[in-house]
Amino acid sequence: MTKIYLDYQATTPVDQRVLEAMWPVFCQHYGNPAQNHCFGMEAREIVTDASQNILNALGAQDGQIIFTSGATEANNIAILGFLHNVKKTAHIIMPATEHSSVLEIGNYLISQGQSVSILPSPTSGVFSIAEISAAITAETVLLSIMAVNNEIGVIQPLAEIGALCRQKGIIFHCDATQAIGHLRINMQELNIDLLSISAHKFYGPKGVGALLSLKEGLIPPHSLMHGGSQQNHLRPGTINVSGIAGMEKALLLSLTESEKESQRLRTLSQLFWQKLQAGIPNIKLNGSPNDRVHNNLNICFADVQTEALMMAVPDIAFSSAAACSGEQKKLSHVLKAIGLSDQEAAASARFSLGRFTTEKEILSAADSLIQAMQKLRPLTKVTTTEPAENIQTDELPDINEKIDLCRLNCPENYTRLLMKLEAMDTGEVLSAIVSGAEAKNNVSANLKSDGYQLLLLRSINDQHWEFIIRV
Ligand code: PMP
Repeated sequence: MTKIYLDYQATTPVDQRVLEAMWPVFCQHYGNPAQNHCFGMEAREIVTDASQNILNALGAQDGQIIFTSGATEANNIAILGFLHNVKKTAHIIMPATEHSSVLEIGNYLISQGQSVSILPSPTSGVFSIAEISAAITAETVLLSIMAVNNEIGVIQPLAEIGALCRQKGIIFHCDATQAIGHLRINMQELNIDLLSISAHKFYGPKGVGALLSLKEGLIPPHSLMHGGSQQNHLRPGTINVSGIAGMEKALLLSLTESEKESQRLRTLSQLFWQKLQAGIPNIKLNGSPNDRVHNNLNICFADVQTEALMMAVPDIAFSSAAACSGEQKKLSHVLKAIGLSDQEAAASARFSLGRFTTEKEILSAADSLIQAMQKLRPLTKVTTTEPAENIQTDELPDINEKIDLCRLNCPENYTRLLMKLEAMDTGEVLSAIVSGAEAKNNVSANLKSDGYQLLLLRSINDQHWEFIIRV
């Protein structure tokens, strides 16, 4: 099966047109914009033009732009930079569903004694003005809230939030990383003071982003890093001119094409959702069904762990949690914040569609997921009975393959084991080690019905068992 990419919210491929805009900057206009010779001036002009075009495109004609490595850095400069100039008693607000690059700043500030309110989320994931308003105190100086959630795709009521912040005299920082190309963002109209973006989320290159401010001077000229005087000391280091040219092109393309593209993605995501709903009983959409972007579906599969599903359809790329927490394997803080149980969060998956997603891919991915779920669902009903016969043999055949599943949970281990067995030839013998009685019972219960012969099951110690299986 050909690979299908449904993880556009983790990152997007670079659009060919963006790459074409970047080539000349890499190879011809490669001067350092900090230099005053003709090459430097040429590069400086590219940066100046891109700055104004990006500011104009996002409704901040009179504002300022700081180019960064992405949205993480932009968020840090926005919040920590802004706080540098305010009283120690200043209070800031952020929802519990923010991306870790905002939430972890909040946790850090709390550890430093700063007053921070982390707002508990409603089950829809969409905050009401009343909920935000109630958190504002006389000391509040800044509210940081994302435009579109990176996990559940819900949209916050930006216009109302902006109006509230203006009325209360609070700085409004918006992490718009997931909004570009999906939602119209005009900083002036929405009263957004500070805005973070990241090019690789809208078909630009990785490693470049920006913090925009509606007017000059909102961020004090205090860098979080020590270094040169680039970008008015706010972000020292040689400017990434090719990346900036790529981000400019990617942004302008995304904005020009957003209306048509949104409609297309809406049709595709509806089709995907309808097919999955028809083929898999008992699934539900996480987050508000109405206030959401058209490229995201975050689905709870009730009783099948996402990791198991991912292993069962290795050619379909989707996400079990936000990429940033993926390595730590911790449950999504967003899903927990909107009220999902641990089990529901572990059984949820994010599918995100994008510019190069086709109807054929959607139909094929839905079919594969439906088939995988039919296979996986019975496995979760783990039997506690021992295998009928604990075959003992003194003359075991040679073992062709070994697999250690001790680090996996039940029933993921069985899926991994099945994949291994399916790849082996008839008659070959596999040794598999599992840990925990649940896993042992699960494997024992399912092997025979899947057509494999259990030659031997022996205990290694209290927690670990070895299965010797013939294909
Ligand atoms: N904010 C949001 C909403 C995001 O989705 C991401 C990327 N997952 C970031 C911030 C961080 O972006 P970057 O990787 O460009 O630093």
